[in-house]
Amino acid sequence: MTDTLPPAALVTGGSRGIGAAIVQRLAARGIPVVSLDREPPAAGSPARHVACDLTDLPATQAALAAITAENAILWLVNNAGIAAPASLEETTMEDFDKVVAINLRACILAAQAVLPAMRGAGRGRIVTISSRAALGKELRTAYSATKAGVIGLTRTWALELAPHGITVNAIGPGPIETELFKSANPHNSPRTQAIIRGVPVQRLGQPEDIAHAADFFLSDGAGFVTGQVLYVCGGMTVGV
Ligand code: NDP
Repeated sequence: MTDTLPPAALVTGGSRGIGAAIVQRLAARGIPVVSLDREPPAAGSPARHVACDLTDLPATQAALAAITAENAILWLVNNAGIAAPASLEETTMEDFDKVVAINLRACILAAQAVLPAMRGAGRGRIVTISSRAALGKELRTAYSATKAGVIGLTRTWALELAPHGITVNAIGPGPIETELFKSANPHNSPRTQAIIRGVPVQRLGQPEDIAHAADFFLSDGAGFVTGQVLYVCGGMTVGV
């Protein structure tokens, strides 16, 4: 009975950083938004928060079932992610499984959960947040593997779901000034300055840079755009 439920958007990891900026964009279009993460967003967020640790499979399935029982999710943004930087030798299987659970498995679970509503409505928008690291980045074995995996499933779902009016696109951010970035690259540190020098536009990205791109993929007018990967990275993928 998903056709009788009020439509809404689901943003995983909508509590802060890139996800929070996307929540703001969706809310500005009058779309009710659900944010799925462990901690609630800061006061004033327009999102309804559903608490869930995406490493916990039964809890994730239960949270998604509760969300889809209340709303027909017609916009899904698979955004939640962790980086877990480590060299090849330092990458533990425990960390690898955790990164896979959050960055990759949760994308599949969320897409499966919202599919009946999108199919029933004959329309839907799915955006996955990959990374420039999908193309390779030192000290990111688990992370780059999941972010490349996200592109694979984006392109696969684009083909499977196109006949149902559902588009699926990925965004590959470069360095964006969020907690995830700052935890590995302190403000004004030599490392951060070196990263900025490697960005053709000579600055770090802001969450709003990614939200702007997501807004396009999530819009009604983007119905002829599917299976694409848009690198929003200040030109870092150009000329290499
Ligand atoms: P933040 O660390 O600022 O935000 C991450 C979000 O994911 C938070 O809302 C967090 O909420 C949620 N999250 C993390 N772990 C879990 C978990 N176990 N269960 C549920 N939710 C979880 O990161 P960004 O905004 O920077 O990252 C957003 C996406 O963008 C990620 O997929 C990231 O890989 C990608 N990206 C970011 C880049 C950057 O430079 N910042 C570059 C390229 C890609 P909570 O902790 O409350 O659970």
